[in-house]
Amino acid sequence: MVQDREPLDGSTTCDLLLEGGVVIALDDEKQVIDGGGVAISGDRIIAVGSSTEMAPFRAGAARAVDCGGKVLMPGLTDGHTHLFQTLGRGMGDGLSLVPWLRRFMFPYARTIGSELAVAAARLGALQAALSGTTVVVDNHYAPTDTATTLEVAGAIESVGIRGAVARGIFGDPNRGGEIMGVAPELFPWSNQQEIDITRECLAERPAGSQVEIWPGPENIVYVTPELIADSADLAAEAGVRWHMHCSESADEIEFFETIYGMRPVAWLAREGLLSERTTLAHAIWLDDDEVQALGDHRSTAVHNPVSNQYLASGVIRLQPLQDAGANVALGSDGIAVTGQDMFEAMKAGVLLHRVHHLDPAATTVEQFLELAALGGAAMTGFEGGSLQAGGAADVVILDVDKVRHTPWNRPVASVVHCGRAADVDMTIVAGEVIVEGGRSTKVDEDEVRAKAAEAAQSLIRDADLSGLTEGWFSSRKEASP
Ligand SMILES: [Zn+2]
Repeated sequence: MVQDREPLDGSTTCDLLLEGGVVIALDDEKQVIDGGGVAISGDRIIAVGSSTEMAPFRAGAARAVDCGGKVLMPGLTDGHTHLFQTLGRGMGDGLSLVPWLRRFMFPYARTIGSELAVAAARLGALQAALSGTTVVVDNHYAPTDTATTLEVAGAIESVGIRGAVARGIFGDPNRGGEIMGVAPELFPWSNQQEIDITRECLAERPAGSQVEIWPGPENIVYVTPELIADSADLAAEAGVRWHMHCSESADEIEFFETIYGMRPVAWLAREGLLSERTTLAHAIWLDDDEVQALGDHRSTAVHNPVSNQYLASGVIRLQPLQDAGANVALGSDGIAVTGQDMFEAMKAGVLLHRVHHLDPAATTVEQFLELAALGGAAMTGFEGGSLQAGGAADVVILDVDKVRHTPWNRPVASVVHCGRAADVDMTIVAGEVIVEGGRSTKVDEDEVRAKAAEAAQSLIRDADLSGLTEGWFSSRKEASP
């Protein structure tokens, strides 16, 4: 425990004292403290401890919150999402990745304009904040001009959370794009223009910003090798991470091998493109050497268990990756499924590997809480992921005084298996309360929802996607137009 600012009466001041809850600290000792608390001063946690250890703060706290019946835990990181897709919630069900892209997401992405994308990002970011997500990595790929990219970053910041906009980079049209059926409209910029625009965005939001800009070469199959290398170089120069879809579906491995004669991650390794800055969304279809390569370079694989089941993409080789030393973070992949809900992602992940291996010991609830908190922090390089004195004051408070959490036998299991995003009572980022009583303190939720609903209607009409909104599909064929 560390303290600062000792007043003369022996008490210790703090701005915010959260006391009397169950603290799941995810610190080095992996403490779970019943009746514990967290003291915050400015943007820092200054103490985490038991009721006795918190006692000196009571008299001098500017604000004290009684956390009886509540859980205090670190904010979560959504390591891979697409906020601009939020207007398509509930659509595109029953398709695997390539048809999902061709029939739903590519028409959506080539039609959506700046204003609609920002409305979508605000809604998605709001859902993240309300769900206890304090960091999002938003792979934003439509539209990607400088102004829209920066507005999306602003939308994330407006709800109070941290993040990165991994600006989607497509570049020169290429054979991979043709094979994948990517709409030509999604290649509006040359390779050089993509780097120039990303550089412009980075100048506005450099490393260390509340919401950073990262280069996001969109997919290893349909971005040219030169542009992927240039994106990685730009990230190194700017001191940020870079982010790319890689080896999500078995089809993509086949496509890549057809064009380049080798496997995707093997190619990244050969080209010297793997490092701690390399963050790969999905990374499911890896052979042993590729798993080892990600481990050797401590690169990040972002596991998106809900999305991977929804699109039936496959199951990431979680334990081999962790054993090899790779960092694994957790992502929602946005409305590819249901939205920015990391509680859903944690539970889905825990269960997915158990049934895949027919082994209930294949995962633990602790492991998935770590992926969502600590794995995310390692991925982004941001502070957070644990509650520790001296650390960033990013804290989530869950209200567990509910039927679904009764009886309260084992905190971590109850949070992961019985927990819901709707349990989030308070979200705190850098010491600021951005969600209180389950409501945003930063934006007018009704206004954000109304704008997004209106935007969705116009997008569905303009992109001719109304066939995907029918009330009831009476056959599987109808669901997969
Ligand atoms: Zn994705």
